[in-house]
Amino acid sequence: MKLCCFDEGRLGVVIGDEVADISEILAELPAPAWPGGGEDRLFAALPALMPKVESILDRAPRKPLSQATLRLAVAPTKVIGAPVNYRDHAAEAEADKETFFAHQLIRIQEIGLFLKANSSLVAPAQGIALRHSDRRTDHELELALVIGKTADRVSRDDALDYVAGYAIGLDMTVRGKEERSFRKSIDTYSVFGPWIVTADEIEDPGNLDMELTVNGEVRQSANTRDLVLGVPELIEMASSYYTLHPGDIIMTGTPAGVGPVAEGDTIHARIDGIGSITVKVRAA
Ligand code: MN
Repeated sequence: MKLCCFDEGRLGVVIGDEVADISEILAELPAPAWPGGGEDRLFAALPALMPKVESILDRAPRKPLSQATLRLAVAPTKVIGAPVNYRDHAAEAEADKETFFAHQLIRIQEIGLFLKANSSLVAPAQGIALRHSDRRTDHELELALVIGKTADRVSRDDALDYVAGYAIGLDMTVRGKEERSFRKSIDTYSVFGPWIVTADEIEDPGNLDMELTVNGEVRQSANTRDLVLGVPELIEMASSYYTLHPGDIIMTGTPAGVGPVAEGDTIHARIDGIGSITVKVRAA
């Protein structure tokens, strides 16, 4: 099932080239109490609500996807990133001696994970707004996942049970010597979408083809089988340090082929089993 948020806070299921409006489900969510936070209320409740979602789907009103504005469909407590998590990207980074990579290239098992500010998240249609135009901003295509239930010190063997679904992520990055979390937390530098494909539809997140083009030129083409730490290992590692809450996002790392983007560029990205996104790049 492809879950989405569309128009003004509508909850939808994408079916072919239409979106079915299942917003009545939102009435079932517990009222937010101040100060709130802690988890995404929809993803926390979704396992219990799934039978109702399925029961109303046939009669849910539909509209053409082309007439819907897709929005960010999740409110995480954190967005987790995975540095240098493809073998070929590690080689590429190592060869690039003039960049910050040379002194930062430590194995992911040693360096651990990083966090991106939640405020950097956007839906693909919102586009990327470049800052620090005198510096290089790179695209990083990544398989992204959403946590579906509270995960505290979960083993890799059980980890996939904690995934609600998958989406396409762009972990945009200003290159430089500052901390990763600083350079990757610029507003709009975490693109997530176009929807969330529920985990039951992705048989093996460790075998998905992906591709990213800029203005039609292929920059990144890879398969998630080349991840150093796969989805189960990333969940194990992350949850050994902090509890993962429903709605939390993990961006699993980028393969080789990262490169600069400029104002006016159009990024197109696809991941098999999920779909594709088109993202415009502009000045902030
Ligand atoms: Mn990345």
